[in-house]
Amino acid sequence: MAKKASVENKSKRTGYSVVIVPLYEGCARQFKISRFAIYSVITAFVLFVSSFVYVFVQNTRLKNTVAQYNGMGLDQVIRLQATQLDAANEAISKSNTELDALKTYVVYLGTLDAKVRKTLGFAANNVSLASILKSTATPTLSVSRGLAAGATQLSTSTAVVQQEAEAREKNLIVLQDAASKYNSLLAQTPSIWPLYGLITSEYGWRSNPFGGSSGEYHDGVDIAAPYGTAIRATADGKVEQSGWNGSYGISVTLYHRDGIETLYGHMSRTAVSAGQTVKKGQVIGFEGSTGRATGAHCHYEVMINGDAVNPMTYLN
Ligand SMILES: [Zn+2]
Repeated sequence: MAKKASVENKSKRTGYSVVIVPLYEGCARQFKISRFAIYSVITAFVLFVSSFVYVFVQNTRLKNTVAQYNGMGLDQVIRLQATQLDAANEAISKSNTELDALKTYVVYLGTLDAKVRKTLGFAANNVSLASILKSTATPTLSVSRGLAAGATQLSTSTAVVQQEAEAREKNLIVLQDAASKYNSLLAQTPSIWPLYGLITSEYGWRSNPFGGSSGEYHDGVDIAAPYGTAIRATADGKVEQSGWNGSYGISVTLYHRDGIETLYGHMSRTAVSAGQTVKKGQVIGFEGSTGRATGAHCHYEVMINGDAVNPMTYLN
């Protein structure tokens, strides 16, 4: 009975004992360790090691992921910047081309300026535009040379062209004013025919048309045309005289500028009155044969400071 119980106890209560025996003296010591305790320790150890390995693996994986993301981000930034650089380079290149075109145009304006000055008899512009443009030659731009430097050079060149264009504009305004005065002078200078017809008597010495042995000095030209043909002012001016005028019959005298006058004689009637302002080409009267005339014609006379000059000079 007791033996049986002993065997049962042995199977149920398995465990180990650790005996520590001193080498030289003293009592030996025995420790009992249950199997449960051993399993618990082993399990705890395995769990600890597993956790450590798991954390280590996760950490490594996370590090790799972060590195990968960082790499991808940088790559994207580089690609974006490359695209932006390309765009900037293209824009600067386009501006460069436009600036060249603008320079050509400003040079053309300079040429035009010189031509107009020459035509009007003005002194040449002493500013050599070409030299200024040469000194600020358009830079050859490239990304490798630095966008900022290229953009600065471009900006400087643009400013110079802008400045020159403004100078041209001021010049042209001066020339326009001069041309306007020139036009005004031209308008006030006899330059057209008072009427179209046959020249029956020229300016200068001629035999007396009314007979007699002596010649006479003809101080105008006689232009014959059908009776009543309109007679026009040969320049802008003011009517000095309109009506009967001795041997000129019914005549009109106009004052233009700087002592220049014109006289239209032998009219059948006038169309203007003294003091009136007339424009070049305006009808001032009609052809007739009043006064000392042998037939229907217009005696046209040009005077400078009261002296008759050859009207043909003004009738080219
Ligand atoms: Zn005459």
